Amino acid sequence: KARKRFGQNFLQDQGIIRQIIRSIAPHPSDHMVEIGPGLGALTEEILAEAGALDAIELDRDLPPILRTKFFRYEDSFRIFEADAMKFDFKSLREDDRPLRIVGNLPYNISTQLIFHLLSHSGDVLDMHFMLQKEVVDRLAAKPGENNYGRLGIMAQYYCEVEPLFIVPPEAFNPVPKVDSAIVRLTPYKVLPFVAKDPLLLKQVVKTAFAHRRKTLRNNLKELISTETLESLNIDPSLRPERLSLKDFISIADFLTPEPLTP
Ligand code: SAM
Repeated sequence: KARKRFGQNFLQDQGIIRQIIRSIAPHPSDHMVEIGPGLGALTEEILAEAGALDAIELDRDLPPILRTKFFRYEDSFRIFEADAMKFDFKSLREDDRPLRIVGNLPYNISTQLIFHLLSHSGDVLDMHFMLQKEVVDRLAAKPGENNYGRLGIMAQYYCEVEPLFIVPPEAFNPVPKVDSAIVRLTPYKVLPFVAKDPLLLKQVVKTAFAHRRKTLRNNLKELISTETLESLNIDPSLRPERLSLKDFISIADFLTPEPLTP
């Protein structure tokens, strides 16, 4: 029986499962990681095609079921009973192959989990996630759009974001209340725009969006003066959703202390 507290909605539509696997296109030389394998709807297809799969599952009742079901793959399949939010993904790397991460994520923790994974971008080749469609829209949102904010800006700092397709509620059991969608995040090997201190960038973006309906000047008044914003060619009377990633980087870079020179 599916458990609500673990955000369990199991995929049951074979057509959708195949469509997801085609988008991921696992390859025998890939090191795959699946977050929340559940009863193995995607796991089975990935194991059939990939060379190695590590799965991370929080519900302790599921790994024994998965081990039994996939005993034929015991050389290429490892299961970690762990919380993906606290998991050190880097520890899975065994060679120079970056990780390919996939997951039909538990929706209650999906945005926090994505923030956690962005901090591991250097160890990741790509990520394919099933999310609430609304979250996929936020990930891909551009300046000026209503749903443009922290999540989209930080995801787009580290990754190319490609929404792939919509998945209707009936593809799951139990049936969720909302539409879902598949998104691909591909970390840039060379970032198109670089902040001197990405953590400070994250902080600036968070502060700038603390009150969506307020101007930048008001949201950032503890951090930066109106004159400085103007000197950076940023209009202080704008709402935060009008600013590009580059604008946020110039604010963060201005606030980054210069390293001491000897
Ligand atoms: N992949 C399966 C499928 O598509 O049918 C299950 C998807 S279900 C939406 C989410 C899965 O993530 C569940 O198996 C749940 O137990 C697991 N899960 C929930 N929270 C987790 C966490 N913090 N870390 C790892 N797995 C988690």
